[in-house]
Amino acid sequence: MSKWKKSIYTFVIEKGEEIILYNSFMGAIARIPKEHTNRVRNILNNGIDEIQLDELLVAELCVQGFLIDSEINEQYLVRSTLEKEQDSTLGLTIMPHEDCNFRCSYCYESFENGLITPKIMRGIKLFVKKKAERENFLRMTCSWFGGEPLLAFDEILDMSDAFIESCNENDIKYLSSMTTNGYLLTPERVEKLIERNVLYFQITLDGPEEIHNRSRKLVGGQGTYSTIMKNLIALKDINNKDLTVKIRVNFSPTTIETIENWIRDEIAPEFSADKRFMITFQPIRNWGRCNKNINEYFHDQIFIGDYISYLNNACINLGFSKQDVRQSLDPHGNVCYASKSNSIVIGSDGSIYKCTVAFDNSINSIGVINVDGTLNLNKVKMGMWTKDYVDSTEKCGKCAFYPSCQTKKCPLISINCGNPTCPDIFENIESYITATISAEI
Ligand code: SF4
Ligand code: SF4
Repeated sequence: MSKWKKSIYTFVIEKGEEIILYNSFMGAIARIPKEHTNRVRNILNNGIDEIQLDELLVAELCVQGFLIDSEINEQYLVRSTLEKEQDSTLGLTIMPHEDCNFRCSYCYESFENGLITPKIMRGIKLFVKKKAERENFLRMTCSWFGGEPLLAFDEILDMSDAFIESCNENDIKYLSSMTTNGYLLTPERVEKLIERNVLYFQITLDGPEEIHNRSRKLVGGQGTYSTIMKNLIALKDINNKDLTVKIRVNFSPTTIETIENWIRDEIAPEFSADKRFMITFQPIRNWGRCNKNINEYFHDQIFIGDYISYLNNACINLGFSKQDVRQSLDPHGNVCYASKSNSIVIGSDGSIYKCTVAFDNSINSIGVINVDGTLNLNKVKMGMWTKDYVDSTEKCGKCAFYPSCQTKKCPLISINCGNPTCPDIFENIESYITATISAEI
């Protein structure tokens, strides 16, 4: 047997006279120019015994993980490395206010709970302090979610200050993000959030003003497009290179037709030159269902994947950053936070969940946080969310995309159906890879 062989996580795409390689464990992508394709094809098919380090091409194939030492148990190495990486992060999603100033036509939230209480805030701050002091986390991520989190602006500042103090005292890197409708995201608030490391914002626009205002209205029914756009444009003036703004576009069959022109005429001229802005597309769908054929909205799942991939390519051609598409090809890039053992969602009343979608599903209600910072958790339910299906699902056991997905794209679907569902990107993996080529060897 040859000493070096093709990694089981390497994809090989023949594209015209070139070859494109992608390795899902390393997240590496490379374009092999035509003068080297025969040599590379031969090595990938037959392996190679000796690496001459002065042969740059072959050395790079090894360094970037396209080839692996044939004596290594690659599946074991990959699984244990990915597990260790996940265990080193404490992930909290906090809903400091469960009501919202919007009433979107497709929203799944019930708005039964309101503002977080000082007691629950105290419990969360103590929970983080104890975790930071007693466990060996390298980083903590805190995602602010709702309802609309900015309805609890002062509470967010207060909790952030406590988290940052606990993390600083224990050498833990603190990262924070916010999913907001953007209506209250004024420059003054942004400044204060950035001081507390909230550097990633996800804000939704559903298409041109008329379409957006039909689905994303204030409680009183008024449109919200112009205020959100004003706040988004103001974000461009924030002088911080680490700021990331993801504009999420929810689309349905009735809005599809308008999206591309709107991006070209209104969104790209404002934001494409600023590489801190990116766009992501999501079909409006009934999350968590087993059946991939979502008849209420779309007739063909492949069509959805094709359409998203088409829009992503259009955005790249309009000059938008490839970062979002690129990240989805990284290891862990398609793993939902709900599947991670150190990740919980905390409601404003102290309830603990795993997923930010299925609040009415009892499987998602996994416990409560106490005032002293301890948790009462249902370990059986927790185990259902964190289960890895790689050994029980044939397609996953031999899947080359496992490091990115780990059978955990949507644990809610896996629980409901007994089987994991592949990420949309996997249906169109070749077009995603070719859209993001960034390196030549
Ligand atoms: S479990 Fe599924 S529905 Fe819930 S947050 Fe994750 S991807 Fe979304
Ligand atoms: S769910 Fe699909 S993409 Fe994920 S590991 Fe299994 S086969 Fe691969």
